Amino acid sequence: MRCGVCGSERLGPLGELTSGNRMGDQRFLRLRFPRRGAFKPRPEYDAVFARACRDCGAVIPFLAKEELRRFDAEADALEGERDDGFR
Ligand SMILES: [Zn+2]
Repeated sequence: MRCGVCGSERLGPLGELTSGNRMGDQRFLRLRFPRRGAFKPRPEYDAVFARACRDCGAVIPFLAKEELRRFDAEADALEGERDDGFR
């Protein structure tokens, strides 16, 4: 696996990813998308693991296995946020 930022192959081991905030339910990062109807919940997926690049320090989050399965099944129907120049 390569770092998506610098291309290095020196990624560290998989670690648990948290927000660092011990108050409330903030034990992980959550990827959310706009809701697809007035009464539907926003689609959201928890990223609970990450690897860090040993060369540039970029952190690459990963969805848990069950979240990935759900995300893959729903991804074609998801609508992205307005990108404001991000890709
Ligand atoms: Zn890197």
